[in-house]
Amino acid sequence: MYKLVRAGEKTYYMNGPYNIGFYKLSENEVCLIDSGVNDHTVQKIDEILVSTGWIPKIIINTHFHADHAGGNRYFKKKYGTKILATKTGVNLLDDYKLGPMMIFGANAPKEMYNKYTMAPDCPAELLDENSIPEGLEVINLPGHAIEMIGIKTDDDVYFLADALVSEITLNIHQITFLFDVRKYLDSLDYIKTLKGKLFVPAHAPAEKDITKLAELNRQSVLKNIKLIVDICEEPKTTDEVIEAVFIHYDLKNGFYQYVVNGAIIKSYLSSLWDDGRLEVIEVGKKICWKKVHFDK
Ligand SMILES: [Zn+2]
Repeated sequence: MYKLVRAGEKTYYMNGPYNIGFYKLSENEVCLIDSGVNDHTVQKIDEILVSTGWIPKIIINTHFHADHAGGNRYFKKKYGTKILATKTGVNLLDDYKLGPMMIFGANAPKEMYNKYTMAPDCPAELLDENSIPEGLEVINLPGHAIEMIGIKTDDDVYFLADALVSEITLNIHQITFLFDVRKYLDSLDYIKTLKGKLFVPAHAPAEKDITKLAELNRQSVLKNIKLIVDICEEPKTTDEVIEAVFIHYDLKNGFYQYVVNGAIIKSYLSSLWDDGRLEVIEVGKKICWKKVHFDK
């Protein structure tokens, strides 16, 4: 845990609950792939930098979630690190209130602000073909977040961010964070086609063969799709669908969990409506989701 692991000639990662990529740009400069959550993780990254003598010249954020960008401000302040992110990342990293608001769908109450939803604001620059360091390549992995990316290094090591989670996480949480179900599934299918030496998800152990874990994640999403469609056999309001999923998986209750899992479930509902598997009907003053029967 929190150890530096060598994955290739120039590619390393710090293992732990947040796998952080280190790519050597020169003898004493590195590019970090993500900067962890804003707690002791940042200190662990810095301990590695101090012990190796490496300077973090650049941080590439795979997406704007606060557990991937929590160290941006610290490293920028200490080392003058340049922060690179996609267009959405550039917009959100500079004003973190937008993240909790996006999850809540309105001005978010204070319960929504914590180290997992808020990183210290820190301006980022656009990651594009001109700014990406030589030896690194962007791979698009949307679905978990808008515009999430992975990074491939020229050591054939892939950093896959949150495109998939570990089997343990799947078993514990059952329903894991995603923003766009269709794109999430497409990204998993794409990951299964990648050929590489090592695959490093952000929150799962590195794997030489990622296809099994990608398939487990895919099966988990398909299971949730079936569950939600079945819940809507009879018309259900959004709250009733969320309640039924919580009961089915015996999920931990509480306001924050309700909002975050509710956001995930709403992502499923919107995708299932777009795909024609659910329809929206009015029952009195209620807006309800209802399963579409294709045999009619
Ligand atoms: Zn994430």
